[in-house]
Amino acid sequence: MKSPIPDYLKIVLENARAIESGSPASYIETLAKADPSKLAVALATVDGNIYSAGDDRVEFSIQSISKAFVYAIAIEDIGLQGVLEKIGVEPSGDAFNQLSLERGSNRPVNPMINAGAITAHSLVTGATAEERTERILKGLSKLAGRQLHVDEEVYEAELKSADRNMAIGYMLKAAGIISCDPQDVVRGYIRQCAINVTVRDLAIMAATLSNAGVHPKTGERVIPQASVRQVLSVMTTCGMYDAAGDWVSNVGIPAKSGVAGGIIGALPGQVGIATFSPNLDERGNSVRGVAICEKLSRDMGLHMMDVSQIAGATVWTSVATIVAGTHEPHHPNCERDVIIFSLRGAVRFPGSERLSRALVRELGEPDPEDPGSGKYIDACAVVISLRDVYSLSAIAQRMLHENIKRLIADKRSVVIIDPSEVLQMKSADGKPGDALPHIVKTENEARDYIGGAGSSTVLIKDDW
Ligand code: GLU
Repeated sequence: MKSPIPDYLKIVLENARAIESGSPASYIETLAKADPSKLAVALATVDGNIYSAGDDRVEFSIQSISKAFVYAIAIEDIGLQGVLEKIGVEPSGDAFNQLSLERGSNRPVNPMINAGAITAHSLVTGATAEERTERILKGLSKLAGRQLHVDEEVYEAELKSADRNMAIGYMLKAAGIISCDPQDVVRGYIRQCAINVTVRDLAIMAATLSNAGVHPKTGERVIPQASVRQVLSVMTTCGMYDAAGDWVSNVGIPAKSGVAGGIIGALPGQVGIATFSPNLDERGNSVRGVAICEKLSRDMGLHMMDVSQIAGATVWTSVATIVAGTHEPHHPNCERDVIIFSLRGAVRFPGSERLSRALVRELGEPDPEDPGSGKYIDACAVVISLRDVYSLSAIAQRMLHENIKRLIADKRSVVIIDPSEVLQMKSADGKPGDALPHIVKTENEARDYIGGAGSSTVLIKDDW
């Protein structure tokens, strides 16, 4: 059997081919000569599978798409605070190559316009311009999963028409934003833009952002999670030149486009996508690329503002009665109720709040306004099952610790079923003397602990 995804991608490409408008970027000679019939799309999953169609092995220069990744490298090298002192995060309605600085702070407004990107380039660690550019080439190659190269012809061509970028470099130097030689920095920035990639490279680079900075293929953490959030935020507000509003409402995926006709989209937690088609619209975005991304987003439900997951269904409650085993027929918990709270999925604030509310309702004092509350106040044990939990966010972890501590302070017997060790209670709260819950791997161990060896349970209520 063949996967339907490549066939679907081919259909999307063929439909986009009918769009004839736009033209290649004209201000860089080599790009102006690009073959406008080239067309490709790739989609990479967060576990490293890549699907692609069309001219998916054709190389083109990364151009402005590099800005997103170099911003991440600059954050890694000098820290977010240092970068924010030099580059703002406000979207600008100006052209990407505008000679402008933010009023008051004198910073470039964001890292996706040339002034901000040239600054980000200058912040990358390196004793010389060559070292800086080498570090960027290495970083991008690591993200692509193969050794990338600079397209010397594109580099030379852009250098010939670099007056505007050079002017931006001198403006940055005069404003005290960059300290090194402006010509060196701009040359390095132009080399960074001339690195060749394919849509398959770009899709996996984008998927690394989607995967919170861990490379989907190698499993290596390439970008710190906090930087990924920063990069995706800026891509969302400033990544598509001055089409950010249209893009966010029609496609809804953090993205970055480049003048050679590439676009990347990185949907947090789901997929990375990339398209290539050289004809650009008047805002500088690939016409067919935008159309393809709109179609993928619509068909595949990729819009980040689609409220597709309601957080409520992550906790359910059941109650069981202990039946003693033959080893301990007179166990004190025999015939008593056990209340079990099971959490599911990736638990974040809403899931942990639901648990907290359920604990209070079932085990707290009865509330006259809420009939049925406080019903299990006499339960002999509280079981919290994390068996089906895939992850606990930091706040879910803290809320869970706090709830468990409060249950123990109320003298309750608390048993946690945690086969994959998602609860890091010891390491997080490791104060000596802290009462800890009893943590087991299976339901059977929980039963043996509560009702004595060999005991069983009869389920009497299962809802929430
Ligand atoms: N190297 C190009 C420039 O600075 C990149 C522009 C872009 O892709 O938007 O003009």
